[in-house]
Amino acid sequence: MSALEKRAASARVQAAWAALARVQDPEIPVISLCDLGVVRDVREAGGVLEIVLTPTYSGCPATEVIAQDARTAVEAAGLGPAATVLQRAPAWTTDWISPAGRAALRAYGIAPPGPVPPEQAQPICVTRRRQPPVPCPRCASRRTERIAPFGSTPCKALYRCLDCREPFEHFKPI
Ligand SMILES: [Zn+2]
Repeated sequence: MSALEKRAASARVQAAWAALARVQDPEIPVISLCDLGVVRDVREAGGVLEIVLTPTYSGCPATEVIAQDARTAVEAAGLGPAATVLQRAPAWTTDWISPAGRAALRAYGIAPPGPVPPEQAQPICVTRRRQPPVPCPRCASRRTERIAPFGSTPCKALYRCLDCREPFEHFKPI
């Protein structure tokens, strides 16, 4: 590949990232696929733009919609044929949600995930540490309680604020 071709390829990849940054998650339409950390890589492979995606959790029913939306966004931006590649390892973690993504979740009324607890990262550890409180996304009170382990999707839990009395969803750290 000549230097000129290399520069054109990298401009195309950059434009693809910009197009993908405008694609919202189908389940949480306030956060982009890039801020969610689902888009892992964009690369040129034989004239096709390959978008590497890691689904938020295995069996997520939105995965096919996300892949279709990503291809459509890149092709609609005039960047030529696009393909998606699913990369399941390493597994997606809520630690990949960007600071902008966390702010968008909070503004939408979903308590963003905290850092992944160390006991999940170290399966040998047997003592269970108390989960830190999940602050209310509306009034920031830390006096909240979990109502249900699952919210509108399996990746969220349902909470209630004891101060403003509002129920809210918490994106569970995984
Ligand atoms: Zn509250």
